[in-house]
Amino acid sequence: MIINNGFEISNEKLHFATQVIAEMQNELPKYIHDGHGPFLAAIYHDKKQIAKSANSVVMDNCSNNHAEMNVIREVQNILNSYDLSSFDLDLYVTAEPCMMCLGAIMWSGVKSVFYGVPSDSVEKITGFDEGFKPNWFRKFNKRGIAVYGNIKTDLGENVLAEYVKSGEIYKPYR
Ligand SMILES: [Zn+2]
Repeated sequence: MIINNGFEISNEKLHFATQVIAEMQNELPKYIHDGHGPFLAAIYHDKKQIAKSANSVVMDNCSNNHAEMNVIREVQNILNSYDLSSFDLDLYVTAEPCMMCLGAIMWSGVKSVFYGVPSDSVEKITGFDEGFKPNWFRKFNKRGIAVYGNIKTDLGENVLAEYVKSGEIYKPYR
């Protein structure tokens, strides 16, 4: 069941978001195989993809390099601006953003967030710690950022479960 933080969007846009998230979940195993962490994020303007990035914490030896952080950095480089608010951009992520990424998203200027697997499910399956983020749905609403979550949850949970089974899991308790 898809959840949101009070912003209404068209069925067409929700349908598109579902397609994007499903596609990303389906390509995620390839990224994991190449040494990435099990999360993928993309930023779009309308239906046009600007950039897509996976989690690269292990390969870069950098705890900052979550998928959302990487894709925001890439788009800000491409558009040559630290403030994306005038570009009307949507962020798609395979799982609910962690506490670090929520801050980065908030200050990036993206207008909406669409995510797949919710954090409690990510923590249960992988053992990762997603941090503390009370009332973030409401706080994002106040800042004018739309949030849609739990998109294609089953598909995303299967990908994470396969990742854990593969034994490539990194620092599961942090
Ligand atoms: Zn994160």
